[in-house]
Order: sequence, then structure tokens, then C-alpha cells
Amino acid sequence: ASIGSRSPPRPRGSSAPYQMKFVSLPDRTQVPALGLGTWRLGEAPERRAAELDTLRTAFDLGYRLFDTAEMYADGRAEELLGEALAGRRHEAFIVSKVLPQNSWVKAARAACERSLKRLRTDYIDLYLLHWREQVSLPEVLESMERLVAAGKIRRWGVSNFDTADLKELWSIPDGNRCAVNQVWYSLGSRGPEFDLLPWQRERRLPLMAYCPLDEGRLAVHPALTALGRRYRASAAQLALAWLLSHPEVIAIPKAAHPGHLNENLAAARITLSPQDAAELDRVFQPPRSKQRLAMV
Ligand code: NAP
Repeated sequence: ASIGSRSPPRPRGSSAPYQMKFVSLPDRTQVPALGLGTWRLGEAPERRAAELDTLRTAFDLGYRLFDTAEMYADGRAEELLGEALAGRRHEAFIVSKVLPQNSWVKAARAACERSLKRLRTDYIDLYLLHWREQVSLPEVLESMERLVAAGKIRRWGVSNFDTADLKELWSIPDGNRCAVNQVWYSLGSRGPEFDLLPWQRERRLPLMAYCPLDEGRLAVHPALTALGRRYRASAAQLALAWLLSHPEVIAIPKAAHPGHLNENLAAARITLSPQDAAELDRVFQPPRSKQRLAMV
């Protein structure tokens, strides 16, 4: 499958006048290269109405890929997302995650059913193992494949897997059915470029970049702010445009602020010049040796 499409179709049902880049999953499904994170949503009851509004606005603006997890606000982020997508769920691509302790066959089925209920849907588009911990990979694989066979999830992937973990997964029969690896990847955290990203690229395994704005810190970085002026873009937009210049990368910035939602979506339109990409390499140096995977 080719990764990245130059003239992608608009997401189904979308009338939003924006240009989105797309990334091909190993099964050739095209997903938007920019989605929305939901970590920390659902945590405070007094913010619930505003957060629901944010998620609905995001959909109206054209967001179609949403990243959540059973862990976020103990399921309340999934609940919020389910409510926000009610009636238009089939136009969205939902990513959720199972906790390692729930990844054993029986527990995974129950955890997935709980997520489905909260999300008000009968399938999850992409279900990730949230992090590795001490779980048995063959068991995880069996859990995931059973959920696929039962129609509960469309495909599965992993999160916070470094190169050695992926190699181990690939050594198991059908381990290469993994659709995505979601890790911390940003201008401020370029470790994956040393060996993880090349390894994934060779196998056409997309990398989903979490904390693409380093939890907001890149949005106020002076070098990015200065460079952004050349593109009439904000620092956050430059940081996202840089990520999206990698054809196999999907970025999932979280934004509760409506202005941020709009801004981030528009970052997909920015193409960095080679000179400016080189300038970013001087400020945010690429790794020269193996670095341990950063994790939140
Ligand atoms: P992030 O997306 O790097 O940063 C989010 C912060 O940036 C928020 O404070 C947000 O503010 C701010 N922001 C967003 N757009 C902005 C803009 N245009 N200008 C200025 N500030 C802006 O960090 P994250 O939320 O930690 O990561 C993103 C998503 O990745 C999460 O929500 C979650 O879905 C996923 N994630 C996964 C894992 C994992 O283990 N798999 C770990 C961490 C995160 P406002 O909210 O006020 O707009």
C-alpha cells in the first residue's frame, strides 16, 4: 500500500472546505493524517458541557479521526466522544486503547464491550494496546484477532512500542497484522527517527504521533514562532506541519480551545521548504544515537 496521498478524497459526509493529507493503513484504509486527542477530557464535571461542544465543533470543522482510551478520565473521555458523535459515528474513525491488564483474552472482550457501550457504537476502528508492560504478546494478539473476528474492532495496533518490542511482535505469526504504533513523536522528542521510524517505514507501518505539541510547549517555542511568520502560521502549526511532512505519520494533537482546533486542522495545508526544514534540524537536532522511547 502506498503511504500518503497527494490528492485524497474528502472524508465521507464531509462538506468542510479543507485540504487534509491522508495516510494508508496496512489494509489500505486511508485515514486523515491529523486527528484529535482526547486525553484529559471528561475529568472535570464543570467542563463537561464545554468539552462536548469542543468535540462537536471538531467534527463540524472536519476532524474525522479521534483518539481516546478506556483509561482517560476512567472512561469518561470515551463517553463524551460517544455523545458528541451520536448520529454520525459512521463518518468518524475512532481509535481507543485497552489497558495492558485488560489485554488477556477474556478481559479484553469485557473491556472492549465497556468501551463500545461508552462510545455508543458496535465497533472500534482501531484498538491499541496502550502500553507493553509485562503482557504476553501472543495473548494480546489472540485477544485482538478474536475481537476482529467478532466484529468488535476493525483492526488493532500497539502504543509505546520501541523497535525491540515491534521486532518481537513481528516474530510471532500474524504479529505483522498490527496496523499502527502510537508513540510520543514531536520536534522536541525526535528519538523515534533513529531506528523506530525507519523500521516502521520499511514495513509500511504508520506511526501515530502523540504529544505532537509536547503537551503545548512547542506552541510557545520562540524559534517556531519566528519561522511561523514566513508562513503566516503559528508555532503550533509549524510543529504539526513538520510532523505531517513525514508521509507515514499521523498526528493527534489535543485541543479543547476552539481556536486551536481550527488552527491545527489548517496546519495540514502548510508545506515546509527544504531550507526551513533544515533550519528546524539545527534548532531541534535529530538523534545521533539510540534514545529510549519517551513516554508520558
Ligand atoms: P499535545 O497534543 O502535544 O498538547 C496539547 C496541549 O496543547 C493542550 O494544552 C492544548 O491546549 C495545547 N494546544 C493545542 N493546539 C494548540 C495551538 N494551536 N496553539 C496553542 N496551544 C495548543 O499533548 P497531549 O494531549 O498529551 O497528546 C495528544 C493526544 O495524544 C492525547 O490527547 C491523547 O489522545 C494521545 N496520547 C496518547 C498517549 C499514549 O500513551 N498512547 C500518551 C499521551 C497522549 P487546549 O486544550 O487549551 O486547546
